[in-house]
Amino acid sequence: MEPDVPATEQPHWRPAQFFSREGNGVRCTLCPHLCNLRDGETGICGARRRIGDIIETASYSATVIHLDSIEKKPFYHYRPGRPVLTVGAPGCSMACRYCQNYRLSQAGKPTGLPWRAAPLEAEDLATRARIHNAAVGFSYSEASLASELTIDVARLGKAHGIDVVWKTNGFLTQHAVETVAPYLSAVNIDIKAADENRHRRLTGAALAPILETFRYLASSRVWVEVSTPMIPDVNADAESVRRIANWIAEISVDIPWHLVRFNPDFGMMQARPTLPSELDAAVEIAKDAGLNYVYVERSMGGRDTTCPNCHAPVVQRDIWRTTSNVLINGGCPACGTAIAGKW
Ligand code: SF4
Repeated sequence: MEPDVPATEQPHWRPAQFFSREGNGVRCTLCPHLCNLRDGETGICGARRRIGDIIETASYSATVIHLDSIEKKPFYHYRPGRPVLTVGAPGCSMACRYCQNYRLSQAGKPTGLPWRAAPLEAEDLATRARIHNAAVGFSYSEASLASELTIDVARLGKAHGIDVVWKTNGFLTQHAVETVAPYLSAVNIDIKAADENRHRRLTGAALAPILETFRYLASSRVWVEVSTPMIPDVNADAESVRRIANWIAEISVDIPWHLVRFNPDFGMMQARPTLPSELDAAVEIAKDAGLNYVYVERSMGGRDTTCPNCHAPVVQRDIWRTTSNVLINGGCPACGTAIAGKW
């Protein structure tokens, strides 16, 4: 699916919401980089700049718009089978060395790739979603850069039941999370490493704010799932898997965790893919930590939901979609146990 208007190689800027003025400085307050920008300067993400005494955003734009299944985001416990009109725009607050979408996520940065996107209006996005009876999703690059667009679309879509979902790195200030959370229906958040040093080396960003975002959203009304790329020598070791599993279990053992098989890409072409044995071991560790719903992505099997009480299969999926859902009012048909989720 194409954006409504042709893509251009110049960003389309408009006033942003998240910034503060400090003396002569203007600081973007969307993510914990807290870029203090000179007039005309662009932030680390490549999608925000200072003009005069305001910050502008270039995230009312789309390089790709796809009508996807919600399972592809991935969300497995949120409205299965729901189509999602998914928008990807240039820029990211991180620079993950393994990024499969680096042509999009690193576009617009001083050392990155050329910008290419079409301007996008919230009204057009909401209208398209309504036509397809779809949710609106922000994914492929960093969803949270589109916080203002998210708020606009959610407001417009509320009367028509259009929910907004994010696939996000979770790298947001507390102020930004609290501001945008009421407009989000579901979030799949990446926890990419189990300690600060490894996380910074992998992504260029701190880990602690992401855990804060995760804890805040998971205790709100937003439906939350977690993804982790299982990268050998970074986080696929037993101790790292155990730490992340415990962080999730401390919030709720019912939060779905997606273990994503790593394939070498971008700045990690020399690394090896995750071994099936490493994925199997990670699943066992996660279950030992008490997690009820652990899934394996980009690998054979591992996408089905079983009842945590009687182990009956309740939802089955192939790579992209739900193929069977036998839940009765969100419960296991065999023993009646409630399966966590918004079905
Ligand atoms: S969103 Fe962009 S400009 Fe704003 S603080 Fe983060 S990296 Fe800097």
